[in-house]
Amino acid sequence: MSLRLTELGIEHVRVFADTGWEHPDTLEYVAEYLPRVLGPISIVGRPGGMPALIRHKGMFPSRVRRYCTTELKVKPILAFINELDPDCRAVNVVGIRAEESSARAKLHEWEHDANGFERWVWRPLIDWTLQDVIDIHHRHGVRPNPLYLTRSERVGCWPCIFARKAEIKTVAEETPWRIDEIRQLEAEATEAAAARYAARGEGSFTSKGYPGGPTFFYPANKKSRGQYWPIDRAVEWSKTGRRGKGGEMFYDEAEPGCVRWGLCDSGPLKKEKP
Ligand code: SF4
Repeated sequence: MSLRLTELGIEHVRVFADTGWEHPDTLEYVAEYLPRVLGPISIVGRPGGMPALIRHKGMFPSRVRRYCTTELKVKPILAFINELDPDCRAVNVVGIRAEESSARAKLHEWEHDANGFERWVWRPLIDWTLQDVIDIHHRHGVRPNPLYLTRSERVGCWPCIFARKAEIKTVAEETPWRIDEIRQLEAEATEAAAARYAARGEGSFTSKGYPGGPTFFYPANKKSRGQYWPIDRAVEWSKTGRRGKGGEMFYDEAEPGCVRWGLCDSGPLKKEKP
């Protein structure tokens, strides 16, 4: 998006919300590489990031309580914009695309006051294809975040609560320390949940819909919905095949990134998936 604004001759301020739960490659890309090719990037975030937030809440974010986006991204960025632009004259430019999800497909290019920003929001890439994104990187000689090439179709938290099967497997293989962190957080959230139920005189929390305690991943397919999978079970499942026990639990498999980006020797670009 910054490259597009540069092509249009529009001056802009770049900001990135560090959730405290990023892949190290993303941090290196945003803090070290991109400033060399784009210019300065302000990095904002909530102190302690995701782990501190989970401890503070005593529970994990989930589909129904998706507080992570609000607390770790929306609020820090809004505070940054408000400080920079107290008169609400700036335009909040967002680089999302309609193809990325059905929710994004419903968004317009221009909208006022989205998410309480009290400013105009402009989404200049809303109609762009993935190929448009790849092309602009090539035009400017800018490499993408390496995660797009080898590990993820979408780059967000590492892992996101909506991680796909292949991503959970990769997290466990490449960054086992992150699995250790999740295991520790699950133990702490389980204790916090037990304390909450005890304080309310409601007896054991295990009888209140937490058969195994709060967990980072909540299976979303029909068969397993409502279950709570501890991280070690999620990791074991992530190593299974595509059939039988191994079917996708959360989302479809991501397509390997480097072929789509045309940056490896695997042959011509595949036709982009809609
Ligand atoms: S990337 Fe996922 S885990 Fe991170 S803030 Fe967004 S929804 Fe939450």
